[in-house]
Amino acid sequence: MKFATKAIHEGVAPDSATGAIMTPIYQTSTYVQDGVGNHKGYEYSRTSNPTRHALEKNLAAIENGKYGACFASGLAAIDCVLKMLHSGDEVISTNDLYGGSYRIFRTIFEKFGLVFHFVDMTDVKNIKNKVNSKTKMIWVETPTNPMMNIIDIAAVAEIAQQGGALLCVDNTFATPFLQSPLDLGADIVMHSVTKYLGGHSDVIMGALITKEETIAREMYRIQNSSGAVTAPMDSFLVLRGIKTLHLRMERHCYNGEKVARFLATHPRVDRVFWPGFSSHPNHAIAAKQMRGFGGMISFTLKGNQLEDALNVVKKAKLFALAESLGGVESLIGHPASMTHASIPKEERDRSGVVDSLIRLSVGIEDIEDLIDDLKNALG
Ligand SMILES: *Cc1c(COP(=O)(O)O)cnc(C)c1O
Repeated sequence: MKFATKAIHEGVAPDSATGAIMTPIYQTSTYVQDGVGNHKGYEYSRTSNPTRHALEKNLAAIENGKYGACFASGLAAIDCVLKMLHSGDEVISTNDLYGGSYRIFRTIFEKFGLVFHFVDMTDVKNIKNKVNSKTKMIWVETPTNPMMNIIDIAAVAEIAQQGGALLCVDNTFATPFLQSPLDLGADIVMHSVTKYLGGHSDVIMGALITKEETIAREMYRIQNSSGAVTAPMDSFLVLRGIKTLHLRMERHCYNGEKVARFLATHPRVDRVFWPGFSSHPNHAIAAKQMRGFGGMISFTLKGNQLEDALNVVKKAKLFALAESLGGVESLIGHPASMTHASIPKEERDRSGVVDSLIRLSVGIEDIEDLIDDLKNALG
């Protein structure tokens, strides 16, 4: 089956009791058993719930995996991955990373003895140099947030395999419509479902997908033991959102390209970070491993003044000033003081998150209105 068909049909079937074509919201905590141990596959909704289960199967299918697990947030999904490790294990992570991922690594899991190394993964040699016998996981986010660097997943997968480490890819920015990390050798795909998969800015959710049974067993054990599961209503909303993921992503890509090209010609704009430009340093890898370049764009202003950036984000109207990304509506943000405020300034500057950096999540509104809004905000 091709992507669009999978997105609409995988994991869902007409309700066996009523024929309802939409998966019902099984808003129940428990399930009546005919006799002890004699049940219909569901015992307690922390362990398993039919609405969540349908979504987990759908996500596994569109990521070309076999097993999916949904969590109360993207960070709860990351929490689950890290709990597969043991004290003393080392993780090599990209240095250009979602702020919340950095925070859970450094302020929660370091306390429990995990060791994190942050390296520039656009050059995979930097990863090789850090691999040792204690390396148990490599953490990749690509495109990176907010610098839109591209990391060669297949090349990192080879290093992970040789070093006996798991490769986990945060696929939030690309979505399974544009990028399939499991096909490129990743062991686990992580999502903030909150973003493009949900797509309508109305749900907080995370997910993990794998095709390896041993990993899946651990994933479900931790999901059930730690208990950060997602709710039936939210599962329903995301099932509904995913049915149009392919259509939304096509428009995000179309609008994203138009906005990137507009910004590149604007006199106040210094640099535009969008992997679709042939001048982007990692464009060749993006073209190889992605099926489109998405709707996430970052740019800096000439002079690199904090005040200028704050004025632009304030003046934009259609581009709403807000955290998050991936919804149908366009958003504008200032990473250094919003999503990435928890990263120390020198580390931010080193990875390019300078004071004038502005990040756009280009939505699926009319492109002319979006360009007019940016013209006005920059004017
Ligand atoms: C938002 C985000 C997360 C965290 O997900 P939540 O759903 O907010 O917990 C992780 N990684 C990336 C790339 C994100 O954008």
